[in-house]
Amino acid sequence: MRVLVCGGAGYIGSHMVRKLISSGHTPVVFDNLSTGHSAALDEAFRGAAEKGISPVLVKGDVLNVGDVEKLFDEQPVDAVIHFSAHSKVSESLAKPALYYHGILVGSLNLLAAAIHSKVDTFIFSSTAAVYGTPETMPIEESCPTNPISPFGQAAKMVEMILEDYAQAQGLKSIALRYFNAAGADPEGRLGENHDPETHLIPNVLKAILGKTPPLDIFGNDYPTPDGTCIRDYVHVEDVADAHLLALNHLCAQTGSGYFQTFNVGSGKGFSVLEVMAAAERVTGQWVPYTFTHRRAGDPAVLVASAEKAKQTLGWNPKYPSLDDIIRTAWRWFNK
Ligand code: UDP
Repeated sequence: MRVLVCGGAGYIGSHMVRKLISSGHTPVVFDNLSTGHSAALDEAFRGAAEKGISPVLVKGDVLNVGDVEKLFDEQPVDAVIHFSAHSKVSESLAKPALYYHGILVGSLNLLAAAIHSKVDTFIFSSTAAVYGTPETMPIEESCPTNPISPFGQAAKMVEMILEDYAQAQGLKSIALRYFNAAGADPEGRLGENHDPETHLIPNVLKAILGKTPPLDIFGNDYPTPDGTCIRDYVHVEDVADAHLLALNHLCAQTGSGYFQTFNVGSGKGFSVLEVMAAAERVTGQWVPYTFTHRRAGDPAVLVASAEKAKQTLGWNPKYPSLDDIIRTAWRWFNK
């Protein structure tokens, strides 16, 4: 199958590209390389020729209708995986237009071109931020969605659009609600490389390596056992697996129109201090840190129920241990 991977040069996108190739599919990567890395794609594409696969990189912007139309004219595809360009809650609070415009217009442009080209299979990177501040844990997909940030709002709006397009246009789509994707390709070829880095695990490892000042822990007065926020960390390889299963699931839908949401999380929660302790176990080194004020938009606890993805998609995470997640990230950082 030829699969369009929008944002395929990014962190999760590049792992997805590798996964598609190893599963015998041909990725057509569409990326403006503003935050993604062509070096990551070189790694992700490695070994494709031996499998008789010719992956493609098309440079372009989902916000540019001309780029998107040209892409669909020149590169026939069977399905679309749309990795959202912007994915930081706190940044979205400071720059709402970047998020509303980027996520909504990008998605609408892709959907219009896909439907015009009769491509009816679409996977969207949604987020746990659609849940806002949930009242029950673990969070099931049926829990109310009351986002408290432009990022969460925009992702929820795209989910609503997909649901409407399923009814009206026969679109078959899945929104995967990511919790905290972390870790790196176990063979050490791909990993997380954001600039600036805002995510906890890479920041912990950078603090250990002395590449940054001591880690800032955003808040120690949350209503959690140790006062720091609890999150659900899920290995990026398992996130990529969830997409592949979602793709197979969509292809198995014979009727017209389909839409479902699935959480992509491990089902286990760890506080910031527990993540630091795990990093110290894995690396054998201390994490220098200071407590600072809360970061805007951070709910105290976000932990997924992963049951729906397990039951419906047959998802079976291969890296459920936090220590293993950190170990793969540490190997990547040391390269
Ligand atoms: N966090 C922190 N220091 C950092 C980065 C993150 O204390 O340098 C905390 C953050 O407040 C949140 C958790 O770690 O409670 C996970 O944050 P991250 O940015 O990795 O993911 P998010 O949950 O925002 O998607």
